Amino acid sequence: MKILVAECMQEVSSFNPLPSEYADFTVERNSAFVRNPGLNTSLAGALAVFDQNADVEVVPTISARAGSGGVLSAAGWAQLSSEWLAELAPHAGKVDALYVSLHGAMGAQGEPDPEGHLLEQIRHLFGATIPIVVSLDLHGILTNRMLHQIDGLTIYHTYPHVDFADTGRRAATLLLDIIRRGLRPVIVRVRVPMLARGDECITKTGWFGDVIADAQLLERSGKVLAAGVMIGNPFTDAPELCTQALVVAESDADLARGAATALAEAMWAGRQRLVGKLVPVAKAVALAASMPGPILFTDAADATSSGASGDSNVLIKALQEAGYPGRVLAQIVDPAAARAAHAAGVGAQVNVTLGGVYDPARFTPMVVTATVESLSRGRARLETMGVPLDAGPTAVLSFGNMTVVTMSHTVSLFDRAMYYANGLDPTDFDLIVVKSPHTEFHMYDQWVRKNFNVDAPGATSANLKTLGHRLCARPMYPLDADVSFAPVPELHSRRGTLPEGPNR
Ligand SMILES: [Zn+2]
Repeated sequence: MKILVAECMQEVSSFNPLPSEYADFTVERNSAFVRNPGLNTSLAGALAVFDQNADVEVVPTISARAGSGGVLSAAGWAQLSSEWLAELAPHAGKVDALYVSLHGAMGAQGEPDPEGHLLEQIRHLFGATIPIVVSLDLHGILTNRMLHQIDGLTIYHTYPHVDFADTGRRAATLLLDIIRRGLRPVIVRVRVPMLARGDECITKTGWFGDVIADAQLLERSGKVLAAGVMIGNPFTDAPELCTQALVVAESDADLARGAATALAEAMWAGRQRLVGKLVPVAKAVALAASMPGPILFTDAADATSSGASGDSNVLIKALQEAGYPGRVLAQIVDPAAARAAHAAGVGAQVNVTLGGVYDPARFTPMVVTATVESLSRGRARLETMGVPLDAGPTAVLSFGNMTVVTMSHTVSLFDRAMYYANGLDPTDFDLIVVKSPHTEFHMYDQWVRKNFNVDAPGATSANLKTLGHRLCARPMYPLDADVSFAPVPELHSRRGTLPEGPNR
């Protein structure tokens, strides 16, 4: 049995003015991307399942992954999509099934639904009957175009995400079941007109986690093949952005319909809790200055892992202007400042501006005279997934009580990887800025005295109303005042098991 494997993943923020480019993608072809079996990625999890089955021959094609960023440029998308599909096309008619690892929150200039395009082209190339199963991030947006091409899907069950490999394993198992047992899955979807953000999205402790626990129980009971809730990435402004409850079932469409409706209603019931609770910057700074540390400032608005530009200086500027007395540790993307530091060398003083490079409408460059404490190539590995980070020439700059890791490229900053890689331990500081909506509990929350979710400006602010959505369907909670919800289960099946016939 030959199973084609492919991957295309990025998450964008439509509100980041800096477009993503083809060069931001790490593209690996043929066997190159299946040689890393130990990673915590969906792809690695799926490959582990396939490898355990002696009768499965994996046909690797192409993996394209980029860190989060602005919407992919038209030229970037044209090159990426054509190269990606060109790697798959020669295998049409020669494989028995496809597993495709996707994120679901890509966006390109001129193509608001890149994953839908790829899946539509795959279906066109490989034919109407070949099984296709995808894995998706719960922040993805499952469009109609995507849904109509697939036979099944699995979705991350954790946020902050830690179950990448498990989601891939579940997808691979579902695909093998479809092939071997001749399953004919029905996908039931209930869309909810809401966007979720904030601490209640944390699955270990929040409202969303209780809903996900129901989905996991459904899966573990064996009554359904897959279940989950996609909350969408609220920063990927696309026509079909919303929350979606999804249940994949073999035969019992009624059970799936009831289960998806229950998941959707539970999300809707929690909508007021699933709104980011934010502290104004000035208040957070005043509170921090009045209490013993350590303090965490969570700057979700400039969360590079959600697609922001990473060049916000709002918090270090506010702390400096308020005369915050403690030792502050922060990160910023500013290639010119990093370059100047590398030119000057360790121990030198540099006069540079920090921040406001890519998003000048939100951030004003900050003039500093800083000491170059250390220099690096900006290489690290994410703590959670083990995948490499490349922030380019990087410098640790200090001025006053500030220590700022200054990077040349935007990389994910949701864990401590870039601090550690530059010889810095967050526990040595009184106040740490993290550009992420959340971190895993042990990384900061376990030992800081207080974590302030700060209401700073940025392309990925949890203050969703400030962003200016133009494309997503309205009304949408919490963007609009009057939003109502009546669950409408939609049934999709490519394999003709619907009581009322195929619904496509
Ligand atoms: Zn995600």
